[in-house]
Amino acid sequence: MDCLFCKIISGDIPSAKVYEDELVYAFKDINPMAPVHVLIVPKQHLSSMNDITEENSALIAHIFVVASKLAKELGIDESGYRVVSNCGADAGQTVFHLHFHLLGGHKLNVEMC
Ligand code: AMP
Ligand code: ZN
Repeated sequence: MDCLFCKIISGDIPSAKVYEDELVYAFKDINPMAPVHVLIVPKQHLSSMNDITEENSALIAHIFVVASKLAKELGIDESGYRVVSNCGADAGQTVFHLHFHLLGGHKLNVEMC
């Protein structure tokens, strides 16, 4: 499959890895919007939030456990952070492999839409 994040997960395209386990891969965003900007992605190819179902909900829950853990490790748990997933054209999704942006390290824009 011609998917950028599948190629990053497989190592065919290099990335700055932050975390990996059997289900999840996390790496620094190449165009950071904040001092901490990490992308957390399931190793399983899901295209977007639209592919989330009861069947894969444990995987999605695990991603949020990882997000909380990484926020602590990256030192933004006390200062605050945001987890975002863009879905589809109106949200500006550019890579169609489900991913969650972990953003923090400075005061984030309060306007979310
Ligand atoms: P989205 O716009 O929500 O689909 O997010 C896609 C994100 O992937 C953007 O923030 C990009 O900067 C990021 N991105 C694209 N290519 C790479 C890459 N090769 N390595 C790391 N991040 C990337
Ligand atoms: Zn993929």
